[in-house]
Amino acid sequence: MDELKKRILQDGRVLNDQVLKVDRFLNHQIDVDLMDRMGHAFFDHYRDSGITRVLTVESSGIAVACSVARRFQVPVVFARKTRSLTMVDDQYTAEVFSFTRQKKFTIMLNKRFLESDDRVLLVDDFLAKGQALLGLINIVHQSGATLSGAAIVIEKAFQEGGRLVRAVGVEVYSLARIASLKNGKVLFS
Ligand code: 5GP
Repeated sequence: MDELKKRILQDGRVLNDQVLKVDRFLNHQIDVDLMDRMGHAFFDHYRDSGITRVLTVESSGIAVACSVARRFQVPVVFARKTRSLTMVDDQYTAEVFSFTRQKKFTIMLNKRFLESDDRVLLVDDFLAKGQALLGLINIVHQSGATLSGAAIVIEKAFQEGGRLVRAVGVEVYSLARIASLKNGKVLFS
């Protein structure tokens, strides 16, 4: 998606060889018009997949997940990273190691929000080492739902996540694929 690539070059900040900061438009301050157009791009790609649920993990995947779900006219469900007193129902759980936080945590999803006859589209802002997506894939498998693919805003193709997720048979569709962040520069694949 050319508009997204331009925006990454204009407003992204390369923090080091591994990490890109995009908090001006994607995961702190949010450009809702750009979100809307990205939602449309994902909808175009998956329009014939019969999606009934969009699934992400809190928090930075939620905005783009909502834009996609609006196009499909289906609900968004997001896995939670912290337990709250209101979580009294049965939960699907999976262990995830966070690349940006460098710690392990459990993601949780109320069993009532994912049924075995659902067709699920996973959505996230970044694909790095693939741990967040593999956790979500694990939860979808537990539910017996059908997985239609993973819609990713920015895939860092030099990290192993894309390979790991594709290796378990999940189609990954990314709007921008980054080949390198070396020397403070963003290089697209
Ligand atoms: P993974 O589980 O694929 O290693 O990482 C996925 C999650 O880590 C994403 O949902 C995103 O929130 C965060 N993340 C990974 N790499 C980056 C990055 O370069 N920049 C930012 N802002 N977040 C990242």
